[in-house]
Amino acid sequence: MTQDAQSLQDLAALNDRLMARNHALAEALNRAGKELAKAKAQISQITRPPLTFATMVRVDGSHIDDEGVRHASAEVIAGTRRMIVPIAASLNPAGLEPGRTVLLNENMVLVDQRDVDGVGTVRRVAQVLDDGRLIVEDNAGNPTVVRRATALAGVSLGPSDRVTVDPSCRLALELLPGEDDADLVLEETPDVTFADIGGLDEQIERIRDAVQLPFLHRELFERYNLNPPKGVLLYGPPGNGKTLIAKAVAHMLAEGTESGGVFLSVKGPELLNKFVGESERLIRLIFARARERAASGRPVIVFIDEMDSLLRTRGSGVSSDVETTIVPQFLAELDGVEQLDNVMVIGASNRVDMIDPAVLRPGRLDVKIRVDRPGPRQADDIIRHYLTDDLPLEHGVDAHALARVLVGDIYAQDEHRHVCDVCDEHGQWRAIHMSDVVSGAMLKNIVDRAKTRAVKASIETGAAAALSVDMLAMAAQEEFRESVDAILDADPVQWSRIAGFESGSVTRIRPAGDARTA
Ligand code: ADP
Repeated sequence: MTQDAQSLQDLAALNDRLMARNHALAEALNRAGKELAKAKAQISQITRPPLTFATMVRVDGSHIDDEGVRHASAEVIAGTRRMIVPIAASLNPAGLEPGRTVLLNENMVLVDQRDVDGVGTVRRVAQVLDDGRLIVEDNAGNPTVVRRATALAGVSLGPSDRVTVDPSCRLALELLPGEDDADLVLEETPDVTFADIGGLDEQIERIRDAVQLPFLHRELFERYNLNPPKGVLLYGPPGNGKTLIAKAVAHMLAEGTESGGVFLSVKGPELLNKFVGESERLIRLIFARARERAASGRPVIVFIDEMDSLLRTRGSGVSSDVETTIVPQFLAELDGVEQLDNVMVIGASNRVDMIDPAVLRPGRLDVKIRVDRPGPRQADDIIRHYLTDDLPLEHGVDAHALARVLVGDIYAQDEHRHVCDVCDEHGQWRAIHMSDVVSGAMLKNIVDRAKTRAVKASIETGAAAALSVDMLAMAAQEEFRESVDAILDADPVQWSRIAGFESGSVTRIRPAGDARTA
């Protein structure tokens, strides 16, 4: 190889190395460029001035000047501050909607539009003005006039609807679902019939006469100018079938109608808690719902449980709200100018003495029916509804015999069914037996306990276990023990009221068997 050729080869190799180096350098430069750009972006990201949230109210003005530049501004509310701000050139003013959230940059330029804020102060609509504005009220009933956000523009709003408003309370933003009202009253189409109720034939007969006659023969009542009762009051200790009767009435009235009857039930104390300070609205709502349901021709029963808590005597000083607004509002609805066709009120109470007498006057809830604790005969009837011959029964006995034995046990006036002793205000002690505190619900519970035992025994043995005298006796004993515990834990005065003894007549309660030691 000549010297020239050798040096040419060296040069080529050098050139290759330099090229490779150059390439690596270019790549490094490229990478550094990218890193730099990223760092710059990060810096601009963390040094970006904050944006301020505001609520769009309206476009204040928009025009294009001689130079072709658009000048647009908007009224917005930031916090409680009302402002006119410029609209960024990148935004189309026509697309900005009242009520939507907008963003303002550090120079207070409106630069972006977001959705309507999902949170806010809640107000109740009191009135809709002709031009669409709303009068809304806070909890204390203070009114404010507000405009509607675009989202509410075409929405039909009515009194008592709930809306959110912006912090300055100038715009109604969003309609809230009426949750409050959805569970205000429980609504069902009851399938209870009078045949399902034991031992209350007399009461059923009376309620049938009071309710069914005027309902089925409305023309005759009109012909004789006889006002049908607007409602019935069922009273007596809890758990003895008041609710069952009310449901069966709704069912009975609906016989022959395709869609069935409607049973709207409201619980006095729960509602009062939920509607503190709004009791008038509450009563209005209940009756509005009843009328609405009755409009399609369906009979409606409005069942008011624990009615005494809602409609207590005015002047009794228990709750000014209850006395001053609920009773008059209730009477106004009942006597109302607006027809209550197909609507019947059934009240239930174990403190009938507490109910305002005006509620019980003729033409209102003037039919009063006492639903008492079952005596042995009624108890037998009730038990037979739950203890039937088609069940697996102990060999050699029928349901009739089992029920008789069980009733004998529950109604025994001896020591083994001695619940406790109570003392009245004269210091007189008397024994309370299971028969004094028994209820329809308790009887059903005893049978259910025995059935549960039978089910468990069936699971263990793999064959249907028969309901026996023993199982029922054990069930009765369990129920007895539970009522003893419940009564001894109770406040004497409260207990005697609920239990249906003369109000407050029990001042002390002592366990059975303590008489000897006392
Ligand atoms: P109240 O309204 O008087 O407090 P309910 O009608 O709600 O009592 O009764 C509670 C439950 O007890 C009923 O669902 C039913 O299972 C049972 N019960 C009460 N009384 C009777 C009765 N007379 N016949 C059949 N079951 C009854």
